This record gives sequence, structure tokens and C-alpha cells, in this order.
Amino acid sequence: MRAMIFEAPGRPLQAIERPIPSPGPGELLLKVHACGVCRTDLHLLDGEVQIESPPRVLGHQIVATAVDGDQRLGVPWLGWTCGECVYCLSGRENLCLRARFTGRDIDGGMAEYTVADERFCFPIPEGFPDLQAAPLLCAGLIGYRALRMCGEAQRLGFYGFGAAAHILIQVCRSQGREVYAFTRAGDERAQAFALELGAVWAGGSGDSPPQELDAAIIFAPVGSLVPLALEAVARGGTVVCGGIYMSDIPAFPYSSLWEERVLRSVANLTRADAEEFLALAPRVAVETRVTEYGLEQANEALADLRAGRFSGAAVIVP
Ligand SMILES: [Zn+2]
Ligand SMILES: [Zn+2]
Repeated sequence: MRAMIFEAPGRPLQAIERPIPSPGPGELLLKVHACGVCRTDLHLLDGEVQIESPPRVLGHQIVATAVDGDQRLGVPWLGWTCGECVYCLSGRENLCLRARFTGRDIDGGMAEYTVADERFCFPIPEGFPDLQAAPLLCAGLIGYRALRMCGEAQRLGFYGFGAAAHILIQVCRSQGREVYAFTRAGDERAQAFALELGAVWAGGSGDSPPQELDAAIIFAPVGSLVPLALEAVARGGTVVCGGIYMSDIPAFPYSSLWEERVLRSVANLTRADAEEFLALAPRVAVETRVTEYGLEQANEALADLRAGRFSGAAVIVP
């Protein structure tokens, strides 16, 4: 089969031919229809998040069909948990001490076939074509977990308006919440995209929103956004860091956190998150905007993501 493999940080993915993998006990052999590209893939490529045993097939937003079945399945970032650590036993398998992640510790979806633990595969809801479904599996799922951490916040700031934000804004609107979109200063295309999807305001990350926010989610991996977001939220407001990696956070005065503001991160997902969000997405009628790339164009997709050359999400079709 054809696959794109990661060999070492700083090197482009390599196109190779390798045997179709064999599923072990409890695993499914999957034919990949589509695989979404995620910012985490850039952090893996750059060595900001480590791959311990390369070579590795990246890709953790997989839409596939089991070779001996006909149901479409989605494979997300969480690929395996131990089931016995303190986190697994307390409903927090996203923090499992021995968790293994798709496209980091387990070969992922940038290939014609992959294998996955069937306990971590989820039926894809009807009505989502393969390409449109792929971004639901990380941008949607982990984004939704970040949104849940914002509680009942009515006015939400999104810092960075990429794949996750373009899905979550649709969820927020269906719940009657307002979204304020912060992009790189001068990124008029991203701001127009946010307004088109129903943001009540869009501006640069250093701009002050017209209203105090109840909560903010930082999607961009930029630590200097943390003090800015804390300044933008009202008393008691929450700032959620949604990514797996962020540059260092600069020092900021305690007064920015004072008055019960909360700063927290969101890590990974649980299977319950996946079930909840995949049930919600069709009810909201989430529409994902995708740009399609062939398997051998994976490096181009990653470069375009890095440069912000498309709106929405990139999806690879092997
Ligand atoms: Zn991801
Ligand atoms: Zn565990």
C-alpha cells in the first residue's frame, strides 16, 4: 500500500510502499477514505511533540471502512488506554498514564490502510460525506471538549479561526451564543470567514472586543495570546488553551487572573466526548469547509496549514 511516513523532526514526510498492516486481537483492518490534517501534525513534524519510535504514519482524523464490514468508522487521536490507571478509573481516560495516540504512537491515516483498536472506532453519522466528516474527529471532538470547559458562557472569544473554530462556531450559534473571532492582525480573509459563519465581531488578536467576554478558547499555539485573552474575559471568566503545544507564555500581572478568572488547558479526548459530539454534529447540521489533497500531497497540505492558505480544514484522500 502507499503511505506517507514521518522519519524525523524537520524532515518532510516520505512517500513509501509498505505491506498492508495486519490487525492484532481486537483490532480492525481499515480502508482509509479520508484523513484530516491537524495542527498537531505540524507540532509532530517540528519535534514540539515527540514521536518516540519513528517511522510513523501520521493522521488522526480517519474516516474508513473495516475491510470485513460496511459501516463507516472514524478513528480519533485517542487510540488506546490502559483501563486501569487512576485516570481511566475516574472517567478521565484522556489523561491515561499509558495512553497511545493515533498518528503518534500508533500508525495513523495518511495511508491506504490502517489498523485501529475497535474500542476506539466510532460510527460516522449519516449525512456527512467522507471528506466533510474527517475534521469532526479532532477539530470537532477536542474543540467540543474545550467548549464544554467554557460552561454556560454566552460571549465566547476564539483566538485563531481554523478548523476547530469553524466547526465550534456552528455549535455555539445553535446554542444561541455569541462568538468573537480573533485572528492574526490583518488576516482579513480569516476575519471575513468568521463573519460569514456568524461571528458577531472579528478582529486582530491584539484588539479589544466590543464587549467583555465570558470565556475564550485559544486555538493558536501562541503563548502571548494567554495574557491578551485573560484581559478580554470578564470577572469569573475562563480561558481554555485548546492545543497540545504552545510557545512560552509571557509573564503577566496577577491582576489579569484576579477576580476568579480561570486559565486551563484541554488535553486529548475521552470516548464519551466522541460519542457526545458525533451525536450532536448532525443535530446542529455542522457543515465543514474542506480543501482536498491527494496522499502524496500531504506535505503540501501541511505547508498550506502552516501558512494559513485555506479556510476551514485540509483533508487527505489516499
Ligand atoms: Zn488533532
Ligand atoms: Zn489508563
